[in-house]
Amino acid sequence: MTYNKKEQKVAPHAKEICWGYEAKNGPDVWAQLNPEYRLCCVGIHQSPIDIVDPAPTKLSPITFNYQPTSLNIHNTGNTIQVDYHKGSWIEVEGTKYHLLQFHFHAPSEHQVAGNLSDMEMHLVHKSEDSTLAVIGVFIKSGNINTAFNSFWQHLPSAQGESQQIKEVILNAFNLLPSTKYTYRYNGSLTTPPCSENVKWFVLTTPIEMSHSQIAAFKAIFSGNNRPVQPLNGRELLVDIIKDR
Ligand SMILES: [Zn+2]
Repeated sequence: MTYNKKEQKVAPHAKEICWGYEAKNGPDVWAQLNPEYRLCCVGIHQSPIDIVDPAPTKLSPITFNYQPTSLNIHNTGNTIQVDYHKGSWIEVEGTKYHLLQFHFHAPSEHQVAGNLSDMEMHLVHKSEDSTLAVIGVFIKSGNINTAFNSFWQHLPSAQGESQQIKEVILNAFNLLPSTKYTYRYNGSLTTPPCSENVKWFVLTTPIEMSHSQIAAFKAIFSGNNRPVQPLNGRELLVDIIKDR
């Protein structure tokens, strides 16, 4: 074969490995896949964490202003993600964080005293100054969750598959538990590039899904959870549970 400059140029690209959750591209080697992922290895304020002995604290409330959206759902290759239209936000301590998307992990990424949940939902928000805030919601096996019915039947199973269904309207607020006490700490994205300075609000109350609802997700993605990372002395808080 003749020497072909073009081929030589293309080859390294072809060999580039996308991050994922297998031995060859999983959390242990994320930082080796791309120099931009170095924080996944050297970051010291990483997520997820094992939530142990959080300090009960009077925390400022989270105001939710989520609007209904038509369904825009993707299989990213590493999770199922629902993109959100502009105009939905949370407000905490005077800062608005706009809801960008929500997605799922199975099993959960965060642990509570060493225990994983069946799944975890992450609602990803961004403020005007580009600070990220994520609300984490544990999902455990139990009763069927009718709030998910409208879109759970549209889970895209093929990598890269997207569905936009105007007839299916959902409001992420209806997916949250009614009790909204939180664990709070500063961490990172749990996927490459593992960027830090992410404000985490993990709801203490899980939501339930039926065994078959959880199985429907796990048939597409199972094991898309990063292992817990060391707390490294970070502050870990929890709302003081008020008497009812
Ligand atoms: Zn996530």
